[in-house]
Amino acid sequence: MSAVSNIYPTAALQALDAAHHIHPFSDTKALNEEGSRIITHADGIWLTDSNGNRILDGMAGLWCVQVGHGREEIAEAVNKQMSELSYYNTFFKTSHPPAIALSEKLAELAPSHMNRVFYCSSGSEANDTVFRMVRHYWDQMGKPDKKVIIGRWNGYHGSTVAGTSLGGMKGMHEQGDLPVPGVRHIDQPYWYGEGEDMSPEEFGVHVARKLEEAIDQIGEDKVAAFIAEPIQGAGGVIIPPETYWPEMKRILDERDILFVADEVICGFGRLGKWFGSEFYGLEPDLMPIAKGLTSGYLPMGGVLVSDRVCEGLIDKGGDFNHGYTYSGHPVCAAAALANLEIMQREKLVERVADDIGPYLQNRWRALGDHPLVGEARMEGLMGALELVPKKGERKTKFADGGSAGTLCRDLSFQNGMVMRAVGDSMIISPPLVLSHDEADQLIAIASKTLDDTYAELKKDGKL
Ligand SMILES: *Cc1c(COP(=O)(O)O)cnc(C)c1O
Repeated sequence: MSAVSNIYPTAALQALDAAHHIHPFSDTKALNEEGSRIITHADGIWLTDSNGNRILDGMAGLWCVQVGHGREEIAEAVNKQMSELSYYNTFFKTSHPPAIALSEKLAELAPSHMNRVFYCSSGSEANDTVFRMVRHYWDQMGKPDKKVIIGRWNGYHGSTVAGTSLGGMKGMHEQGDLPVPGVRHIDQPYWYGEGEDMSPEEFGVHVARKLEEAIDQIGEDKVAAFIAEPIQGAGGVIIPPETYWPEMKRILDERDILFVADEVICGFGRLGKWFGSEFYGLEPDLMPIAKGLTSGYLPMGGVLVSDRVCEGLIDKGGDFNHGYTYSGHPVCAAAALANLEIMQREKLVERVADDIGPYLQNRWRALGDHPLVGEARMEGLMGALELVPKKGERKTKFADGGSAGTLCRDLSFQNGMVMRAVGDSMIISPPLVLSHDEADQLIAIASKTLDDTYAELKKDGKL
């Protein structure tokens, strides 16, 4: 099967997939019995599967396709770069125009105190880079005891050893005996699930102070950095209470540790600013980026580095013994440049702030009236619905946690839209080019899907 072709019947593609392909984050045995859904085309916010169904891509692929699918302009930029210089490295005193141009562009878009970027091919590699960079920084600054990195439970920072360790996904830690030594986790600002009897405002301050407690317990002289996503994505679109980031900022300002804002999802317009840190008024020392950087057209990630960190990393001299064959890959850089060019020309970031963001948020929050929904939350263009068995009782959860979510996800697919399930909450993160009409369709499908899920759960005696 050289040019993998859509002329193969779906069943044949599924059989080959089952025979030879191991899927990420999947129960491959169960999937093989069911058969994977084969996506063959995509255009704008619409996917087409091998049976010709059109499906609204409510997740922008995996939180990444900001400019929508099938943009010829990016294909052309990639094609042109492929012919001019398909590959060269940036290791041994060499550079190339696409990497240089992209670096300048990123410095222009990033907060003013961040002017340099280190490249890799994914968000996970970006966080592996972060892991080594913060430790190297403190060595260079003459404080080699500062090595511990604090992350958060239910945070997501990728799937490599360092990414998994920094993240706080227990199901991931269990596989591969992680985290590695030198990583600690504090509670997440998940008021709906963990706020107990506190108000959101009280809980925000309470849970932020866990950072202060952890630093004191470990010893400030041993802590290298704190890492967090401005809004947790994979953890379930956890939008922190309004008091959380201001209190965090107070603590971070007082303490001599680096702050890493993982912008892999929140970056590139998802919250109506170029970066989530801007949205919350944060001043990170490092920002891992990926996903929206290329809108997923080609794999690329990076770490944006503040002038402060450059003092240790660059100004003091010496090699940083770290890098990837594909750091700054010219074709990926060309894709990123074409993608950012579209985002700027079409004012997609502003659009999320002033137009489609508020438009979808209003309608999404109204889904909170549904009898199956305990909370409907959305910031920028990322949102969640908490499915609950007893409306109005925040602490009552489904007995068999996760199956309502899985059911709802499957019904959503049947109804023509990709929503993701995280336990029993439903997640969306659509492309930033979503039109008003498409937003209405998204809400209509979500609404019908909630009705269908409710009816099924009732039938099964789960409500
Ligand atoms: C997706 C994600 C990553 C990992 O990126 P990959 O490209 O999948 O390696 C890291 N951090 C956050 C916040 C993410 O959402």
